[in-house]
Amino acid sequence: MTIAKTLEKLSNACGVAGREDEVRGLMKKFLKPYVDEIKEDKLGNVIGIRKGKKNAPKVMLAAHMDEIGLLVKTISKQGFLQFAKIGGIDDRILLAQKVIVYTEKGPLHGIIGSKPPHIQKEEERKKIITYDRLFIDIGAENQKEARKMGVEIGDPVSFDIKFAKIGKDIVIGKAFDDRIGCAVMIEAMKQLKKDKCTVYAVGTVQEEVGLRGATTAAFGIHPDIGIALDVTVAGGIPGVKEVEAPIKIRKGPSLTVADRGLMTHPKVLRWLKDAAEEHKIPYQLETDLPGTTDAARISLTREGVPSGVISIPTRYIHSPTALLSLKDAQNAVKLTVTAIQKIPKYF
Ligand SMILES: [Zn+2]
Repeated sequence: MTIAKTLEKLSNACGVAGREDEVRGLMKKFLKPYVDEIKEDKLGNVIGIRKGKKNAPKVMLAAHMDEIGLLVKTISKQGFLQFAKIGGIDDRILLAQKVIVYTEKGPLHGIIGSKPPHIQKEEERKKIITYDRLFIDIGAENQKEARKMGVEIGDPVSFDIKFAKIGKDIVIGKAFDDRIGCAVMIEAMKQLKKDKCTVYAVGTVQEEVGLRGATTAAFGIHPDIGIALDVTVAGGIPGVKEVEAPIKIRKGPSLTVADRGLMTHPKVLRWLKDAAEEHKIPYQLETDLPGTTDAARISLTREGVPSGVISIPTRYIHSPTALLSLKDAQNAVKLTVTAIQKIPKYF
């Protein structure tokens, strides 16, 4: 399967933080052919292990399986669903979105509605409609019918967006944060030849709500080196200054120097840069990032783990649809594979 096909399947699946089941199932299936052992820890992380030489360094790759989304909070008497937000979601992107409510009885289609602009007062129209004033309309006649359709408090809701290829190397779709990291990890495991190191390919849970899965996975694995495979904000679009977002699509994966939770270990940065330069893989460097990744938690595990991040530049992160270049993803795979092969020289 190509990386585009893997990404398509992962992107179209639902994995709102804490409800990653569908993605977890795919991750197990996709990783299985390329690992010696696959397991799930008690929190729900998927851990694929490729065994290396005895006493060789252990490297942990982490890509989070969860995505931002909504959870049903209340069902109104008229049958509308009010919701809670899971992860960082800007209220302005919610209105009029098509969504899927995942109930025990199966998925239900719906749309996020609000009071129509026609009957809004002048003042109201200027204001952002906050999420607590929005609702999901699933076409139910009343609360009783909504319940009969299967809706339960706490059901996860994801955006109803299908993956699409829109250019030579450009794809758009849902939850590229961080299904592209998952796809890169699977592809890297596929391309990796038998190696000295032991590689742990981990699909983590609950990253978007506080890097929770990486915390337990890293504790259990006790790695020597940690690498998060994630997305980063790509600039180069109208209205965005160079200093605000210098990373661009099609210029190669980005290596984090520092973000809000991680100071990339200098040895890790040197190792990744050398791997890229020696193999002529394009890369970008970035710092002063307002967010963070699973690498932040891995780095603080036990007595500390030298960690870094390989990111795929992605536009419109944390909105229903994101955009990225498959070339960057392929280069991220190449960098991951070559870097792992160089580990014995550096660690
Ligand atoms: Zn992410």
